[in-house]
Amino acid sequence: MRLILLGPPGAGKGTQAAQLVERYGIPQISTGDMLRAAVRAQTPMGLEAKACMDAGALVTDAVVVGIVRERLQQQDCAQGFILDGFPRTIPQAEALKGTLTALEMPLDAVVSLQVETNALVERLTGRRTCRNCGRGYHIRFDAPAKEGVCDACAGDLFQRDDDQAETIRHRLEVYHQQTAPLEDFYQAESLLKKVDGMAPIAVVQQQITALLQVI
Ligand code: ADP
Ligand code: AMP
Repeated sequence: MRLILLGPPGAGKGTQAAQLVERYGIPQISTGDMLRAAVRAQTPMGLEAKACMDAGALVTDAVVVGIVRERLQQQDCAQGFILDGFPRTIPQAEALKGTLTALEMPLDAVVSLQVETNALVERLTGRRTCRNCGRGYHIRFDAPAKEGVCDACAGDLFQRDDDQAETIRHRLEVYHQQTAPLEDFYQAESLLKKVDGMAPIAVVQQQITALLQVI
């Protein structure tokens, strides 16, 4: 299963990807997670990406295309993968197409999560992430048993720097300008599957798995 999860920031891509990883045993490739790891490790790429990420802007196509191309060639992607947060621009989508053609690994589907803007803002402002294992939560919609503490590993939960109201607004603008056109791109490739992302987390997961059964 080779899949792209498409959708604006806060649509639920990471949440759904984590459950698909469990279900299908294939890796999640999140460019956001990879870039945040590079920032933490203070690699040259991380240092370059940090300013863009803090501002809610996109990191350059060349950087993200490079990290995804390398990642896709690792052994654990041979049985499939779930791309989360990539591609985000038409040039990224074109580059991905070239890479996957060369690797003889065509995509099976592009699942686009449809969520209203007001809900995105509420989801992003309430998002919390475990500092230790990376598991995602929401203070209202997916709350941990104990406030501020991860259910899975007891790590402490933090709020991402770019999940502040002002940065969120900019990220949503960037999405509409640069990423939304990918729906037409993948529609033209007959790969696009739209899913109602407004439903509860478990219902969205059911919708995705139902459509993956028939592709
Ligand atoms: P993305 O990866 O698309 O940016 P996330 O998966 O991190 O989005 O989800 C953003 C926030 O919204 C998280 O706090 C998550 O718990 C919450 N969330 C995800 N899906 C839903 C849903 N279907 N209903 C309500 N909240 C959701
Ligand atoms: P995310 O975790 O997907 O919300 O991504 C967090 C931030 O990482 C984004 O706001 C961008 O600055 C950067 N980023 C992640 N994926 C990409 C991508 N495919 N292209 C450019 N920038 C990206």
